[in-house]
Amino acid sequence: MAPRRLALFAYILQLLALSSSHPNTKVCKAQPGTKAWPSEAKWESLDKTLSGQLIKTVPPGAVCHPSQPSYDAAACPAVQEGWKLAKWHTENPVSVILDNAVNDTCLPDPKYPCSGEGYPIYVVNATTAEHVKRGVDFARQNKVRLVVKGTGHDYMGRSAAPNSLSIWTHNIKGLEFFEVNKFTLKHCRVPIDKHVITVGAGTQMLEVDEQASLRNLTVVGGGAGSVGIGGYLTGGGHSAISLTFGLAADQVVEMEVVTASGNIVTANACQNEDLFWAMRGGGGSTFGVIVSATIKAYPSFKFATVSAMLGASVSSSDAYYDALTTVFEESPDLADLGISAYFFGAANVSAADYGLPIPGMINGFIGSFMLPLIDAANTSDSLLTAVNAIVAKAIKGAEGQFLTSVTNETFDDFWAWYKDHNGPLNAGFDGILGSRLLDRKALTGNRTALREALIVAPGKGTLLGHLVSGKGVHNAKIPGGSNAVNPAWRSAYVHTVVSSEWDPLDAAERAKQLDLNTNVYTEALRKIAPDTGAYINEADLYEPNFQKTFWGANYPRLWLIKKILDPLDVFWCSPCVGNEGWEVVDDALCKTW
Ligand SMILES: Cc1cc2nc3c(=O)[nH]c(=O)nc-3n(C[C@H](O)[C@H](O)[C@H](O)COP(=O)(O)OP(=O)(O)OC[C@H]3O[C@@H](n4cnc5c(N)ncnc54)[C@H](O)[C@@H]3O)c2cc1C
Repeated sequence: MAPRRLALFAYILQLLALSSSHPNTKVCKAQPGTKAWPSEAKWESLDKTLSGQLIKTVPPGAVCHPSQPSYDAAACPAVQEGWKLAKWHTENPVSVILDNAVNDTCLPDPKYPCSGEGYPIYVVNATTAEHVKRGVDFARQNKVRLVVKGTGHDYMGRSAAPNSLSIWTHNIKGLEFFEVNKFTLKHCRVPIDKHVITVGAGTQMLEVDEQASLRNLTVVGGGAGSVGIGGYLTGGGHSAISLTFGLAADQVVEMEVVTASGNIVTANACQNEDLFWAMRGGGGSTFGVIVSATIKAYPSFKFATVSAMLGASVSSSDAYYDALTTVFEESPDLADLGISAYFFGAANVSAADYGLPIPGMINGFIGSFMLPLIDAANTSDSLLTAVNAIVAKAIKGAEGQFLTSVTNETFDDFWAWYKDHNGPLNAGFDGILGSRLLDRKALTGNRTALREALIVAPGKGTLLGHLVSGKGVHNAKIPGGSNAVNPAWRSAYVHTVVSSEWDPLDAAERAKQLDLNTNVYTEALRKIAPDTGAYINEADLYEPNFQKTFWGANYPRLWLIKKILDPLDVFWCSPCVGNEGWEVVDDALCKTW
């Protein structure tokens, strides 16, 4: 049957299944306290089939609340301390880095209420593909909302949901290394002519990078060592070396996946091709659960870095924004030299906080520039020369107004740098991101507009520029020919990110910040790059027209694959492919018709 007709057929089946079970009532996923919710006996039976791996959720912050059964005054301080670090949340079955992703329902602070209502009700602590399958089957058969959590690092809030069953993949471990030509894809004949590594779904970047480096290999890995492969590979995955080698999703040659129908399948360029295409960039917890992924690895190389810092008194704001604009403007040319960078701009901050010997408040810029020393033309000197030239250009005519520092260091391999530059990173706050992928036109086409955007977009917060795309991403050699990564990445250079925060449970301030984030800060970036898009993993949760922004021209194919592979919407999240037609009302996930 042609794919479109198959999708229509699947949709009709879905309508029949849902309407026959709920005549004349709103169609929702099962809610606790209703007849639709599985009985205790059913949950017990699931636990038995999982050999005791089903966990009944205890909100992690409850140890700090005297009203809660798990109250433990002695344990509370450690939870409060860990809560502020992204890494801590990876070790808990339900905890996530953003407090607002669980509706602030049980913060580790007795001055706030604790109900735990933002969290899943049960968690499958999966260690095998079979565990994942049983969780997916149970959710599908009982119409229970299903979520997937690896580390809980998601800025889009997709790894937790109220009244749900969660599959926690953190404990699906495993790292297997294959030499060049020693790994053959299932159902393909030709072995892969690269080193590859098969990583379990619970593997985090730091583990992969360290083990790879011990074998003189390097992988495309994320900025934070505690980011997990599940969300990273399904979102796209940028890296300090993606500009050279392509995005993380471009490195995947094969995946083992549990589908919405509960099948454990291998997806690669020779079988389950649509699933394989969609799982690499189409977003987390939408098409299936990754059990393992096999990714390319590259022989290690020396890694040159330069740190550049510019600080100017707030009275020199004009000069500061001129300098910032110049750095962004020069980014495409830097990328063409193979140089990647992380930019950090902060206006009106205390000089003392940045260790600068300037009294009072400053505007500051920190840039970490990086160059893998692979080509003969690329040397630590060539990197230093390029950065010095940019700094000189950025402050030209205003040299006296800036304090500058440029230092360089070259590392034996990527790991030698990464092991000390991967966090720890903040967690345990209420916040939201906004972002845009900026191409050459946005960066160099209109200096006045770019400068205005760089002033408006960060609001009172910081501006992050990730110069992580260039030749390696634009011309990536992608297994199977292509993947579902937002096509905007293929012409972008800088992934620019802004953020906003508010105090817990302050509804008015939350509404104000969400509005500013979407309609002022992110809008300023959209204006200079109306034709590009944004990176699904680090973006505005309320991005208008998210389908186009996160997936561009890939969206229609992704939608079709979703409808064919998951006609019952076993996986549902927001903002995710094919999630139209459902809404969350009072913590219940219901059909909108
Ligand atoms: C401190 C920090 C630094 C970051 N740095 C970078 C960076 O340098 N580059 C970059 O590209 N991104 C970066 N990110 C963003 C990162 O890519 C996303 O947060 C990503 O979603 C994390 O994936 P996870 O599996 O660790 O998180 P989770 O919150 O566990 O999962 C994220 C999403 O993936 C789904 N998911 C998780 N596991 C699976 C699985 N096995 N199968 C299917 N779906 C799954 C979840 O349901 C959710 O939708 C960073 C994030 C943080 C917090």
